[in-house]
Amino acid sequence: MKMIARLFAVVMPMAAAVADVEWKAAAAKVVITPAEPMILSGFAGREVPAEGTAMDLFAKSLVIEDAAGGRLVIVTLDLVEVPAQLRSVIAAGLKTRYGLAGEALLMNCSHTHCGPELRYTELEFLGLDPGRRERCLRYNAWLEQRIAGTIDEAMGRLEPVAIAHGRARCGFAMNRRLKNDQPGGEPYLNRPNPDGVVDHEVPVLTVKDSEGRLEAVVFGYACHNTTLNFKLWHGDYAGHAQQLIEESHPGTLALFMMGCGGDQNAYPRSLPVFSFRHGQSLATAVEAVLDAGPKPLHGTLRIGWDTARLTYESIPTAAEIEGRLATGAGYEPAYATYLRRWDEKRLYAIRNGGLRDHYDYPVQVVRFGEDLTLVALSGETCVDYSLRLKREYRGPGALWVAGYSNDVLAYIPSQRVLHEGGYEARRAMMYWSNPLHPSAFADTIEESIMGTVGRLLGP
Ligand SMILES: [Zn+2]
Repeated sequence: MKMIARLFAVVMPMAAAVADVEWKAAAAKVVITPAEPMILSGFAGREVPAEGTAMDLFAKSLVIEDAAGGRLVIVTLDLVEVPAQLRSVIAAGLKTRYGLAGEALLMNCSHTHCGPELRYTELEFLGLDPGRRERCLRYNAWLEQRIAGTIDEAMGRLEPVAIAHGRARCGFAMNRRLKNDQPGGEPYLNRPNPDGVVDHEVPVLTVKDSEGRLEAVVFGYACHNTTLNFKLWHGDYAGHAQQLIEESHPGTLALFMMGCGGDQNAYPRSLPVFSFRHGQSLATAVEAVLDAGPKPLHGTLRIGWDTARLTYESIPTAAEIEGRLATGAGYEPAYATYLRRWDEKRLYAIRNGGLRDHYDYPVQVVRFGEDLTLVALSGETCVDYSLRLKREYRGPGALWVAGYSNDVLAYIPSQRVLHEGGYEARRAMMYWSNPLHPSAFADTIEESIMGTVGRLLGP
């Protein structure tokens, strides 16, 4: 009798635990620091190979499965961008190996400027030496394999978990668009603007196993990872924050998800110590959420995916470009080299199939039951998007807005930023060749993206 009672005491809670499994999850990480000398990405004019590693770069994958078998795969990268081609390869692998639809994959990059260049198209190799091309292609293939490896590892050991969401705040991000009061030049300068709009929210998703151990924590922040501009591999403040969280919670994986930080910089910057301090401050905000106790998430996953049709201000003709290239007329002296290079690429594109006349901009919406909705926007999304979405959101549950997801195709200005002008509005377009854009975006961009998000969120 005593024996049976003991057996029941052991068996009953286990049976209850199995019946209660709402979520399963697992996470894995891998180093993606280039083994070969590669060019650093991010800052125009710093086209030099990295001289070494100050901090390893990581790819991390978190697979979440609901009780109905629905799956979400989150991949975060300590890299400057998520090229559409990279995402396609990873999504195709998910389809083949797990039968998962592409919309189940959410890829986000930290936008560190101390990571390697990512080049996928022949257009991007125009004028570059063949050795550089080969190194880029080798890195792409290696990276794809490494990322797929982390997904397979996580898929292979899904276990019952509890997931929860909470929020804190962190203050080092500052708006970086300062109105230029001097005559001439850019209307807005890339300088700290303490009066500008910011989004200081730190959304956090926690994953705990059945024993309450923290398996993974995903956290977001809307700010460029540009504190550092040295010639070493490094994850910048997001790298420090992830490392500090993982050190404080052995066995936990910390995944940074970039928010709408297109027009946000960390200040102060340039010195490595500031990168560390910003990372510390962000990690502390995450700890605040862990300490306060995030709210458990219930229900099932519902994932929506659609594209917004973005159009352009104008589409140049071959004759216009040939005229500029022949005479040099119309190139602002300070940017002549880059403008000329952009024209050469646009002309190459026209002669090899034509310039695009629109861009299908991916929008992804992930719902965790009625408790949390995650909107993942593509591109270097400016902060107006997350602020507006949070202002207009009517629920249910909390809203998390990530930028820099799935296809980092260009800066994504709001209508306000586009009308104001400056770097994020149009200047940055000339540096972009994957994809190559014919001109700045038309000023319908914000309504187009917001309309698509609205349709995915439903009434
Ligand atoms: Zn940027």
